[in-house]
Amino acid sequence: AENLTKTYQSAGRTLTVLNSVSFDIQAGDTFSIVGPSGSGKTTLLGLCAGLDRASSGSIYLNNIKLDTLSEDQRAAVRNQYVGFIFQNFQLLPTLTALENVMVPLELRGERRVEKTAQELLERVGLGQRGHHYPTQLSGGEQQRVSLARAFANRPKILFADEPTGNLDADTSATVVDLIFELNREAGTTLVLVTHDLELAARTQRIIRIKGGNLVSDTLTENRIITN
Ligand code: ATP
Repeated sequence: AENLTKTYQSAGRTLTVLNSVSFDIQAGDTFSIVGPSGSGKTTLLGLCAGLDRASSGSIYLNNIKLDTLSEDQRAAVRNQYVGFIFQNFQLLPTLTALENVMVPLELRGERRVEKTAQELLERVGLGQRGHHYPTQLSGGEQQRVSLARAFANRPKILFADEPTGNLDADTSATVVDLIFELNREAGTTLVLVTHDLELAARTQRIIRIKGGNLVSDTLTENRIITN
């Protein structure tokens, strides 16, 4: 992220929600973004993931400069590299849990799509719920379907916005373990927005955003030092 600034026009005034934020994340890192409510964390995550465009500044994802790409080109980059776990899940409401997990597999033209999706649902403890629609699942269950879909994406980088925000302690622990498993097993880079400082402390690096400014950038004791 290079000098990322995001402004909104509202009632004739310019609201600056991110102010020249820069950092870089190495492949395979685990990274948290923390800060008070309204400080700009979700906005920053959306920019990094190529879901939204900055007002100025640049984002490079896997050395691809996102800012100058068309919407379609950015969507293609996202499909190729990125997984998401959103605060409000963003499952497709007209598809069952199983079908939601099948989507990224189908987009990649994989074989045995249904079997793989079923295995992924089992992994998140929802093997029996594949035929249920999102509205028939609890918040925590939807979160886990979202995670199974992120696994299906086999992303190089996973962006998760408050992945434990709506979950009870047990489900939260399961989801967090799965997210870190993705990092360990597949080398997926993790970028988490969280209010949960215990979760942030499990990542290797924490940046703090306040009022749209990056106010600290800390390596935690989980940092693996390589030469
Ligand atoms: P939380 O922890 O509460 O989720 P956050 O740090 O993720 O907050 P953002 O969602 O990034 O904060 O929002 C940052 C600021 O940008 C907020 O003041 C919000 O009201 C403002 N904002 C976000 N989207 C828009 C928009 N489309 N138009 C105007 N202002 C917006």
